[in-house]
Amino acid sequence: MSSDMSDQQMQLLIDLHKNNERQGPGGREETELAMYLAGVDFHAPMTVADIGCGTGASSLTLADHLNAHITCVDFLQDFLDELQQRAHAAEVSEKITTLCCSMDALPFEPASLDMIWSEGAIYNIGFEAGIRNWRGFLKESGLLVASEITWTRDERPAELQQYWEQAYPEIDTASVKIAQLEKNGYQVLGYFILPKECWLENYYHPIANNADVFIEEHDGSESAHQIIASEREEIALYEKYSDYYSYGVYIARKTGK
Ligand code: SAH
Repeated sequence: MSSDMSDQQMQLLIDLHKNNERQGPGGREETELAMYLAGVDFHAPMTVADIGCGTGASSLTLADHLNAHITCVDFLQDFLDELQQRAHAAEVSEKITTLCCSMDALPFEPASLDMIWSEGAIYNIGFEAGIRNWRGFLKESGLLVASEITWTRDERPAELQQYWEQAYPEIDTASVKIAQLEKNGYQVLGYFILPKECWLENYYHPIANNADVFIEEHDGSESAHQIIASEREEIALYEKYSDYYSYGVYIARKTGK
């Protein structure tokens, strides 16, 4: 979901995604795995930000496990309202504050966060810009966990390469992303690739299953049809080429410079 679209398109995308458990590929077990790889102490008090949190899939998992205060950041208030209701239902709302703002204008104090978490969202400002800009908000040895679209093979079919070069030119292999982390003052603690069910069962299938209802709710409008067509194109591409790309989950710690 990028910011260069009309209000009407944005509202349609909000409607399409708001009631789903998540707004990007991922999963509860994968969030937990990343927490373990980060080596967080589940009892220690922590100050955490979940950036591009959507309706809070990862925020709620973090709140479940950690003795943390989590600031959940997204630039869509509708998602944050939904998150707040879910946090309430899950009885973790005292651990959560929502903040409606853009991830390139975060209001945190320098060196104030123990951990920054971001699933399926950093691409909105670009991985390298994101890790660079957010580093200053981390305390010494603070943790960063970010998932980022990643090539999982050295060579790709031309059709796929073209699609992603247009959609997100910063897509690259894990070795490049890891080198970027190292160059920008992080020590890499771990990396893994999201498995297929994180894309299909957890993210794409709920969208596809709701497509007809969504179109009906929007009176069969041209724009509703277009949005579903582009989702279907994205899903078909993933089904065809899932061996070549995924989200990589990068777990890193801020180093002294
Ligand atoms: N982390 C969630 C949502 C991922 S989708 C999950 O895994 O389910 C990406 C999220 O980033 C969306 O909720 C979108 O509203 C948000 N987003 C996109 N651009 C943003 C920006 N510039 N600033 C803040 N949030 C942004």
